[in-house]
Amino acid sequence: MKIICNFASVMEKVKLLILGGGPAGYTAAIYASRANLDPVLYEGMEPGGQLTTTTVVENYPGFNGGVDANTLMDTMRAQAASFGADIRMGAATEVDLSKRPFRVKIDAEKEIEAEALVIATGASARYLGLPSETKYRGMGVSACATCDGFFYRKKTVAVVGGGDTACEEALYLSGLCKKVYMIVRRDVFRASKAMQAKVFSRENIEVLWNCNTREVLGDGMGVTGARLERKDGKVFDIEIDGFFLAIGHHPNSELFSKYLETDDAGYIVTAPKTSETSVKGVFAAGDVQDPLYRQAVTAAASGCKAARDAERFLLEQGIN
Ligand code: NDP
Repeated sequence: MKIICNFASVMEKVKLLILGGGPAGYTAAIYASRANLDPVLYEGMEPGGQLTTTTVVENYPGFNGGVDANTLMDTMRAQAASFGADIRMGAATEVDLSKRPFRVKIDAEKEIEAEALVIATGASARYLGLPSETKYRGMGVSACATCDGFFYRKKTVAVVGGGDTACEEALYLSGLCKKVYMIVRRDVFRASKAMQAKVFSRENIEVLWNCNTREVLGDGMGVTGARLERKDGKVFDIEIDGFFLAIGHHPNSELFSKYLETDDAGYIVTAPKTSETSVKGVFAAGDVQDPLYRQAVTAAASGCKAARDAERFLLEQGIN
C-alpha cells in the first residue's frame, strides 16, 4: 500500500482524482485503477470514513458473522492499492472547478490538476456537542442504529430527534430492543405523518416530548443513562444502555457548493441513475450525494458508478 505525505508545493497532473477515503472513494479507486486510470485518492480528515466510528459491521454482504469496521476499510484501501491506486493522506482545502483541468489544493499546500474528479467526501452525523456524549462515543453512543442496534438486543435505548431518521431508527430499534425512548425537543415530530403513525403504533416506543439531553450518564465502561431537562424545567434521569443520535447529517460539500448544484440540505445533486454532477467531468459518490440510504454498501456501489462514469468521460475526451 502506498501512503505518501506531501509537504512540497508542486503542481501535479493526474487523470483522475478521488477525494474521500470511505467505501465510496475506495471502491471508485478499485474500479478506476483496474481500468488503468491511475487514480490518486486523498483520504481526507477521516480515513476509512464514518464507518470507523462504529465497531463491527454485520450487514456488509460477504462477511457472514460480521467484520470489524476498521478491518473492512483497511481491506478496501489495500485492495485499491494492490491495483495501483495511489492512496495518500491529506484533505482538499481549495478547489477550482470552473474549467478543466480542475484544480484542487491539498492541505493548503500541494496543487493538483485533474482531468476528472470523483467527490466522495461523505457526510458527518450531527452530535449534540456534550462532553459526556463524546466520552461514550462507540461505548453506547452511536449515530447509526442500523450499524450498532444489534448490540442492544433486549436492552433499553434512547433515540434523540424527531425527524424521519429518528423515527426510522426508533422503529428499527423497537424490533430489537426491550424499550426505546425517543427524546424530542418540541411537542411535535418533524417526521412525516406516515412515519409518526408507525411510531405511535409500537408499544415499546415511549416519546419524551419537550425534552433536551443535559448529560449522557455512564459508569466509565459504557452508557447507563441520560439526564434530561423538560421545557417546564423538570430534570430527570432515564436508564438506558444505548444513546442514538438522529438529529440530522451534514454533507461534506461546502468546498464544492460554489461550483456544483446542491439541494437545500447541501447534498450534491447527481443526474438520475448516474454520478454526474452539474459540472461535466466531476462525479459524486457516497453520502455526500445521498441523504436517504447512507449505508456502506450503497456508498460502495455509487463509488463503482462514479469510476465507470469517469472512465467513460475520459474516453470521450480522448484521455487514456
Ligand atoms: P431532519 O432535519 O428532518 O430532522 C432532525 C430532527 O432532529 C428534528 O426533529 C430536529 O428537531 C431534531 N434536532 C435537530 N437538532 C437537535 C438538537 N440539537 N437537539 C435535539 N433535537 C435536534 O433530519 P433527518 O435526518 O430526520 O432527515 C433528513 C431528510 O431525510 C429529511 O428530508 C427526511 O424526510 C429524509 N428521510 C426520509 C426517510 C424516509 O422517507 N424513509 C428516512 C430518513 C430520512 P426540530 O424538529 O425541533 O428542528
